[in-house]
Amino acid sequence: MDFAEQMLSRNKAWAHETARRDPALFGRMRQGQRPAILWIGCSDSRVPAEIVTGAAPGDLFVHRNVANLFLPHDDNSMSVLEYAVRVLEVSDIVVCGHYGCGGIRAALEGTTGGMPHVERRIVALRELVRREREVLAAIPSIEERANWLAELNAVEQARTLNQMPLVRDAVSRPRVHAWIFDIRSGLIRRLASSGDSSLGINAQRPAANDHRETTSVWTI
Ligand SMILES: [Zn+2]
Repeated sequence: MDFAEQMLSRNKAWAHETARRDPALFGRMRQGQRPAILWIGCSDSRVPAEIVTGAAPGDLFVHRNVANLFLPHDDNSMSVLEYAVRVLEVSDIVVCGHYGCGGIRAALEGTTGGMPHVERRIVALRELVRREREVLAAIPSIEERANWLAELNAVEQARTLNQMPLVRDAVSRPRVHAWIFDIRSGLIRRLASSGDSSLGINAQRPAANDHRETTSVWTI
């Protein structure tokens, strides 16, 4: 049986087991959705939002794309935000980047190997690489540079979200968070969250020799 077929039979088993454990679940799902969280993550297969956070169906409104980018000129990003804020009235927006991100790495290495759509998609990341070239140059290995940039990128996307009129002017303004998923441990670490006193945007860059993951300090 190929994997696609396996998925269908696993789905049957899942639906059966889920209905057994929580007989009211599918009835509730018929009534509609009321997720508290908008999750913006990378398409990377290793970072499935619900699995890594132990969430259930109905918990997360999810948008995933290459390198977890939120682009205000893109209807894909904007329609998700619009629906999440105006209809679902989510209380929190999470941008979750991850270490070992291929999109981040492509932006750093300067090539996507001839993929025009990815190339256009990561223009904003290339701009980030240009802006932060001095900090990046001081980080010794490509892996560490990519990991640092993955953190910064998550914060940047969270900042952009936090400044969107849809978010700023929402009746009940959602909190915005930047998180990073560590593919080496499966653990998520919080990088920054919007708060009443930290809505002004100014990155506190780590010193050139102080880039390790435990010491990066970010603000949204
Ligand atoms: Zn990724």
